[in-house]
Amino acid sequence: MPKAPRKPNNSRKSTPRASRAPHIAVVGAGAFGGWTALYLLRQGAQVTLVDAWGPGNSRASSGGETRIIRGTYGPKSPYTDMTARALHLWKKHDKLWGRRLFQKTGVLWMAGENDAFEKASLPMLRKAGLDYEKLTRRELAKRYPQMNVDNVKWAIFEPDGGYLYARLACAAVLDAFLAEGGHYHELGVLTDGRGCDLAGGECRGIRLTDETELQADRYVFACGPWLPQLFPDVLTGKLIPHRQDVIFFGTPAGDARFTDQQMPVWMDYGQHNMYGIPGNAWRGFKVADDARGEAFEPTHGDRTVRVAAIEKARQHVAMRFPELANAPVTETRVCQYEDTPDRDFIIDKHPGAANLWMVGGGSGHGFKHGPALGEMVAGLVKKDQLAEATYRLARLG
Ligand SMILES: Cc1cc2nc3c(=O)[nH]c(=O)nc-3n(C[C@H](O)[C@H](O)[C@H](O)COP(=O)(O)OP(=O)(O)OC[C@H]3O[C@@H](n4cnc5c(N)ncnc54)[C@H](O)[C@@H]3O)c2cc1C
Repeated sequence: MPKAPRKPNNSRKSTPRASRAPHIAVVGAGAFGGWTALYLLRQGAQVTLVDAWGPGNSRASSGGETRIIRGTYGPKSPYTDMTARALHLWKKHDKLWGRRLFQKTGVLWMAGENDAFEKASLPMLRKAGLDYEKLTRRELAKRYPQMNVDNVKWAIFEPDGGYLYARLACAAVLDAFLAEGGHYHELGVLTDGRGCDLAGGECRGIRLTDETELQADRYVFACGPWLPQLFPDVLTGKLIPHRQDVIFFGTPAGDARFTDQQMPVWMDYGQHNMYGIPGNAWRGFKVADDARGEAFEPTHGDRTVRVAAIEKARQHVAMRFPELANAPVTETRVCQYEDTPDRDFIIDKHPGAANLWMVGGGSGHGFKHGPALGEMVAGLVKKDQLAEATYRLARLG
């Protein structure tokens, strides 16, 4: 578990003058900010990390129990390559930290009649060095008799994919950050317009919820779905949080067929937008709809799951996993995607502050990339460079 956050004891937080290492403030300790802070530290910076509610908190997009890691991404190569790097880094850190945050179950991606996306994914997987098998419908039915394979034309099976323990991973990253010399404050940056002191083309400090000011040489804001609240002029319409309901069904007693012992993670995007993670850690069989819900406000939004979402999940489970048709709902969760219009991430400087980077827009697929993205962003911030055009705001008009 993370160490107790250090409470600030002064009204002004800044780098000791004796140090020549740049002081970088990272705001947000989710998948993006936590890993970025850790890699900045490893690249020799002094890093102060702040988060309003803590890493993987129950409002955060990274706050779920589990997140999928897969390389099937259609023709969008940056994320297949990024997955390959991230997978390597997740495994490396599991070894380093003596944890098992990554669970290798394999990932099954089912293709329907229109399989252009899946076909385009295969060369990308090959190029990234991620193994895959092409399974015919018949092979699928034989391998997973607990599944009804109607409407599935064929499937990609990534044997090296799986899922990650999401909120635990965020806590583990904070643990490592503290152990490696980082400073953490559980405080928010004010969202009432006083949060960032922008003047003369740079950020001169950030004001926190305890009314202290944090000063650094550079700032990274990785506030997930909250980013547009901090920078409404820049991000409104370019990053939109959407409500996503997640349902967990209880599996039959002693039946491993619906747990990660005998089922991979599955993506059913042929005719549906559904995906799931089999039972694990003694929790239920997770099912969720990848279709975007309504716009959602992450601080005050009501996280009571919708009956319609339960019904949709149940219908899908009854069709694809008939023996779970009457399975009870054991848990529910409401999270939010922080979507960009094109689903590509945002990694860019604030147009009014040359020392302030905004990092977010995970768009429902960001978690897995945490370590690879953190490594990349830390390099950019440290060297004061811009990201590739794919991630820059100019692409969004
Ligand atoms: C239901 C669901 C399923 C998903 N499934 C997958 C999946 O299977 N695989 C995958 O790769 N991705 C998945 N994602 C997407 C992924 O979880 C997100 O893209 C990723 O977690 C975003 O991380 P983040 O660090 O940008 O945001 P967050 O995790 O939201 O972190 C932002 C942090 O900023 C802090 N913060 C906010 N405002 C302030 C402030 N003013 N001051 C200080 N701190 C502040 C918050 O407390 C929070 O901790 C899923 C998302 C959801 C919701």
